[in-house]
Amino acid sequence: MRFSKLRLTGFKSFVDPTDLIIGSGRTGVVGPNGCGKSNLLEALRWVMGENRPTAMRGGGMEDVIFAGSGSRGARNFAEVTIHIDNADRLAPAGFNDADHIEIVRRITRDVGSAYQVNGKDVRARDVQMLFADASTGAHSPALVRQGQISELINAKPKSRRRILEEAAGISGLYQRRHEAELKLKGAEANLTRVDDTVDQLA
Ligand code: ATP
Repeated sequence: MRFSKLRLTGFKSFVDPTDLIIGSGRTGVVGPNGCGKSNLLEALRWVMGENRPTAMRGGGMEDVIFAGSGSRGARNFAEVTIHIDNADRLAPAGFNDADHIEIVRRITRDVGSAYQVNGKDVRARDVQMLFADASTGAHSPALVRQGQISELINAKPKSRRRILEEAAGISGLYQRRHEAELKLKGAEANLTRVDDTVDQLA
């Protein structure tokens, strides 16, 4: 499973459709200050399901939409597509039936985000779990942003544990456990309600 192309449209400074080809081996992105290098990394995080505006250096999620410049008007939506080469068939179960996986996230002003995997509508959680199960994703320690190393050195043990869990590829299990706990709490609340009703009828 290997990223092969990132396509950005209306995402931050990339107003026109722009392709970043990710060849095998190392890909370098070089350019003057402010040309959009960090925006590319943020696009990658975002399409993998990042939902914290601060991680996108914004105040709200819609801040990723091209906000306009001297000569061009603001856009109404932003879209990022990640192409994954799955010829080795190492994608997590449920997504492993094709040689090529295409994941699209689109955000529209006042509407919010929508995701598609190979043309089918999916939930944000499905995309997040796909990447978590593949030991990568928006919070992956493989994506190192500016200032992150010093943050890691100064981090509290609990935050460091999260990073180790990501690296060990068990963060998907962590998320599933959290969801199971919420369901359990819901079931307990329902049982209490049933007991109350039975008491009232008795
Ligand atoms: P440096 O080398 O200084 O870290 P960089 O190449 O990483 O810079 P970025 O931080 O990725 O550059 O890009 C910053 C540019 O993106 C700025 O010019 C900023 O105005 C532009 N930008 C960010 N968000 C938007 C947006 N929503 N709409 C339009 N332009 C945006």
